[in-house]
This record gives sequence, C-alpha cells and structure tokens, in this order.
Amino acid sequence: LKTPRIVLGIETSCDETGVALVDEEGRVLSHALYSQVDEHQAYKGVVPENAARAHLHHLDVLVKQALDEANLSLCDVDALAATGGPGLIGGVMVGVTYAKALAFSLQKPFLAVNHLAAHVLMIRLLHPVAFPFLTLLVSGGHCQLLCVRGLEDILVLGETLDDAVGECFDKCARLLGFPYPGGPAIEKAAIGGNPQALSLPRPFARDPHIQFDFSFSGMKAAFRRAVEIRLDQGPFPPSEISDYAASLQEAIIQALLSRSRHALEWAQQTIPAINHFIIAGGVAANQALRSRFEQLTKEYGVTCLAPPPSLCTDNGVMIAWAGIEKLKKGQLDSLDFKPRPRWPLGEKIR
Ligand code: AMP
Ligand code: MG
Repeated sequence: LKTPRIVLGIETSCDETGVALVDEEGRVLSHALYSQVDEHQAYKGVVPENAARAHLHHLDVLVKQALDEANLSLCDVDALAATGGPGLIGGVMVGVTYAKALAFSLQKPFLAVNHLAAHVLMIRLLHPVAFPFLTLLVSGGHCQLLCVRGLEDILVLGETLDDAVGECFDKCARLLGFPYPGGPAIEKAAIGGNPQALSLPRPFARDPHIQFDFSFSGMKAAFRRAVEIRLDQGPFPPSEISDYAASLQEAIIQALLSRSRHALEWAQQTIPAINHFIIAGGVAANQALRSRFEQLTKEYGVTCLAPPPSLCTDNGVMIAWAGIEKLKKGQLDSLDFKPRPRWPLGEKIR
C-alpha cells in the first residue's frame, strides 16, 4: 500500500506567514499561521520591508510548529512548496529561499506556486470541483473573473482596471475610522444599515463594450467625497456609519454581481460544461457577498462555492494543496526558479 505523499506549503507573499502540511488525499495535517496585522497597524498598511523581515523571523518557528502538530519530521515531507509570486518581492524571496534550501538539503522536489492559482485551487481540496469552472478572485491586491480550464490553463475574462476590491474596502474603511484591514469591519458595521443611504457609482453598468472588467477608483473617490462633506457637519453617530458601510458594501457587491452575470451568460453560450462558480480570496470571507452570489448562480443552474473564511485569506494550506496539484501532474520546479513580483494567471480573453 502506497502512503499518500505529503507537501509542506509556505506562504509569505504579503502580511501572513503561513505554513501547512497537506497530503495528496486532501487531509490537512497541520496549519500554522502568523498574521502580521498588528505589526503593520501603526503604518495603516503593509510595509514591504518590515513584512519581509517578519516572515524571516517567524518562518522557522512556524515550520517547527506545523511539524509538531502533525507529529512528523522533515524526513516525512515529500515535497516543498512556496509561493513563487505574485506578491511583495522581499517576502516571496524569503519563502522561496527557505523552501529551496530545505528541498536541496532533503533532496526532495521544490514546487513554486502561483499565489493566485493557489487561492483558486483551494476549493478542490474541500469539494470535488472538476475543470472547467468560473472563479471570482477578490482579494486585497486583485479582482479578476476567471475561466479555470485546467491547472495551468486559465482564461482571464476580466480584471480591475485600477484598484483591487479589497483595497476599496480597506481605504474606505479607513475614512470611517476603522483600522486595517477594513473589510471585516465594514461587513460588521453594514449590518442593519441602509444600503440606499448613499448613491455610489456603478462602474461600466451601461457600457456594452466592457462586460467583464472592474473599476473601483471612482467608487472610492465618490465615497471619500461623501464622507468629507458629511464630516464638515460634525462627527458621525454610529447609525450613520452603519448606513455608509452598508451603502459601500452594496455598491461593491453590485459591481461584482453585474460582471459575474456577464461571465455566467458567456459560459452558458461557450462552455455549457461549467457547473461551478467559485469565489476565492480574502474578500470572499464576506457573508453578504456570498449569499448574493448564491442567489445569482442559482438563476443559471450553477453551484456557488467558497472556502471557509479562514481559508479565503492567505494561508499555507492553499500553497501546500496547489503544490500537491502540481506534484500529481509532475510539474516540478528547478532550484533556479526566480521569485516573481508579477505572475499573471493566464491570457486575457479578446
Ligand atoms: P487577501 O489579499 O486574500 O489576503 O485578503 C485580504 C483582503 O480581504 C483585505 O483587503 C481585507 O479587507 C479583505 N477582507 C477580509 N475579510 C473581509 C470581509 N469579511 N469583507 C470584506 N473584505 C474582507
Ligand atoms: Mg492573497
């Protein structure tokens, strides 16, 4: 009987240091995570140099923690996976160099994982989702609509032309006085608020030539203006903060829904085999967003799935699992792999 292979996954592309051990049958043997959020709080955002140093500082401890939790030693690990990009390059270099060094000393394969692909593939550890499927990837640095046809065969249907959706949440939350990251605070404040209190732009809503792309900079600017005008009249009572948060969340969700509806219509006509719509990335932790997408996809006979919130934000499990997907396909990387600050998932549809 062959024992399932085990991959150690390392995530260091932004402000979470994540380490996990996952086997090829999808069992999560351990999951260690250190969030640097508190360290960056004073700067109201992630400071790349500090993030890289913090990864370096915590990685060793987390690897030991992950091995202890799984009751394994390094000799039991069959391959080493690390985020190879895209991300803040200092952090990516820390993770890649660490994984390469282990791979070299243990004489085991090294796997360079595309961080975005890892967010997308995460769902396949949890549910039997076959290719092809549609994905809305929404995070602090990205906003993309994808048709995932295979492991390395991803068609980019649309993407943001300016800011990422998580960034819009975070910057607007800051205007309301919430600390970084602001997405969860907006979601909480929005409960019970009036989503029609503020009128915010719906980007490209009436432009037939832009079907799949997003834009959040106009929404962000309009929100800033509304807050500034309101603050001229004195401080916000909590109920009004709630209205502003609900209006922002509603505008963001509607922008995501309208593009995704076009993608579902496109899929119905071009790839009828699509049965799943996946939401991935940190913003997918938003419950209001999830339930609206469940309603939308039902209209098209498509099942909407998203990982649990703890696996939507950056973590080592998704890197280990994406490593397993590569390992199963024999897609190993050489120790010459160069960390990639940019690493597009695929070609954009024309
Ligand atoms: P990631 O870039 O994948 O690590 O995700 C981080 C981003 O997700 C940040 O911009 C957060 O504000 C955002 N985020 C996390 N939880 C939520 C939530 N419940 N609602 C909206 N945005 C969220
Ligand atoms: Mg991420």
